Amino acid sequence: MGKTTSINLVGREEFAVIMEVFARCTDDYMFLFDLDKDEYIISEQILEKFDLPDNHFFNAGAVLEKVIYPEDMPDLTEDLEKLKSGKSDEHNLEYRWVDRQGKIVWISCRGVVIQDSTQKQKTKILIGRITEIGSKRKADNVTGLFAERQLLLDFEKCKKEGNCRNGVILRIGVDNFKEINERYGMETGDAVLKMIAQCMELVRGEKDRCYKLDGDEFVLLMEGNDTQKAREHYHTIRILIEEHRKVQGYQNFYTISAGVVGFFYENTEFEKLHNYSEFALGMAKKNGKNCSYVYTEEDYESYVKSIKIQEKLRYAVNHDFQGFQVYYQPIVSLETQEVVGAEALLRFSSREYGMLSPGVFIPILEESGLIIPVGEWVYRTAMRQSMDWQRLMPEFRININLSFIQICKSDVVSGIMASIDELGIEPSTVLFEFTESGMISYDDSVQRLLDVLNENEVKIALDDFGTGYSSLAYLQNLRVNLLKLDRGFTSKAVVNDFDYNLIGHIVTMAHSIGMKVCFEGIETEEELQKLRKLEPDYIQGFYYGKPVDGETFYHSHLRKLEKAS
Ligand code: C2E
Ligand code: MG
Ligand code: MG
Repeated sequence: MGKTTSINLVGREEFAVIMEVFARCTDDYMFLFDLDKDEYIISEQILEKFDLPDNHFFNAGAVLEKVIYPEDMPDLTEDLEKLKSGKSDEHNLEYRWVDRQGKIVWISCRGVVIQDSTQKQKTKILIGRITEIGSKRKADNVTGLFAERQLLLDFEKCKKEGNCRNGVILRIGVDNFKEINERYGMETGDAVLKMIAQCMELVRGEKDRCYKLDGDEFVLLMEGNDTQKAREHYHTIRILIEEHRKVQGYQNFYTISAGVVGFFYENTEFEKLHNYSEFALGMAKKNGKNCSYVYTEEDYESYVKSIKIQEKLRYAVNHDFQGFQVYYQPIVSLETQEVVGAEALLRFSSREYGMLSPGVFIPILEESGLIIPVGEWVYRTAMRQSMDWQRLMPEFRININLSFIQICKSDVVSGIMASIDELGIEPSTVLFEFTESGMISYDDSVQRLLDVLNENEVKIALDDFGTGYSSLAYLQNLRVNLLKLDRGFTSKAVVNDFDYNLIGHIVTMAHSIGMKVCFEGIETEEELQKLRKLEPDYIQGFYYGKPVDGETFYHSHLRKLEKAS
């Protein structure tokens, strides 16, 4: 600890003036903290970002507590105690504040304690500066480009000056950058970033500016340009990268994706634009990487909607699956024309969106992993319902859809077998439907699931057959019991001879290797009459009944059995 300096400090007002002068020369916030009087003065521009009552206040501890991240308060208090007690005369701490939007801001606070001898009683005063560690960084050391902070400043300046009405943001990201770092080391990672920066600099127009964002992302701000030009730039950058790789003897391989957003300065806030460009780059990566995507309001809105739906789905999962319902659609035997079972089909409704189609919410459940708890709820609900109906019809079969996320990301087979045991349902009356796409890329967990289901006589169906590439021989190996032909396929067969004959052959071949066949999506008498000649085993379609809730299903299809018995 050094010796505490003692000075004759100028009056508070004069000090405040000096601080404001400094504030204009730096991005830091200058402060004076009278530790004895608990008085605090800080550069005025702090008020733009943080919710303090004024830039000069007393009772400093209590006032500052409102902007300091609660978890960091004990460290700060401990350090201030040392300063007050004279155990230390230097303050140097990195901790977190919370800004007006509730966002966490990392700051570095440094100061030195001096004795103010102008006061009657000597007081201890901490004088120093606060730096925002993250966002105030204006340049990137690896690429030599300006950083995000400068992008914001340039954008705001351009908007204020009004010399240009519109612009484009081209946001570029390296595909699988983490993998490059892990496989080839950080130096290669840095070299890749430098290379991209150089290519961007080569391509950019005179008025365009390049910036390096955090991580592996870059932005080209193009004033007065359109999205077409930005896409051209992206393609040229790709070509330049490729040429450079050739020169380097194809040492490392990487690709880049790009999000493009066109905007008008007058109605654009930087933060929103930043979000849009992040979304646009995310879409390019979602679309398979190594490509560009041009932002549209429509896509963004549906993305925002899907996020909202995801919140509703998560809420429902955490509140006893409120809003979810299992519907049932009859499956009819062609031979007897009687209902032999039903397919369980999930529904979700919310006050805001009404009843949503599974085509909308199943992908969201899958992406978020929520399909795992919801899927379990579906098979348990459907099995219970089926057992209730089996009192009237012991062989009643329930078909339940399984998603590949359930299979690959959870131990669904144990869950299924435990539920079958616990509920006491006859396993051979339960059937699980899979879609073809997942079957093709099946891994060990799929094989294990199929083995366990087969061993326990639980049935297996291949859903939507005809939309993928599986061969019948291959399905026989997987011991699939039932093929379901999608409406996309069956409806074509009604009007097209080729498809009609093809389906006829599929039915014959499936039967020859012991598989049953169900035609899905039969809507009319005409369709039924034409397609029944192909001799499928089962029919499912609006013609016999739409998916309905359990109660309606019972009244429409099963109650007559109750009367008969
Ligand atoms: P899927 O398993 O192929 O279900 C058959 C779909 O065809 C159902 O659509 C059904 O309402 C519809 N359909 C049946 N007959 C006809 C007809 O005659 N005409 C027409 N136009 N359509 C008919 P839905 O209920 O909208 O379900 C769509 C898909 O969502 C299902 O296709 C299935 O892949 C998925 N799905 C539904 N429930 C679940 C579930 O609990 N878990 C999982 N993983 N997926 C589910
Ligand atoms: Mg199905
Ligand atoms: Mg289907």
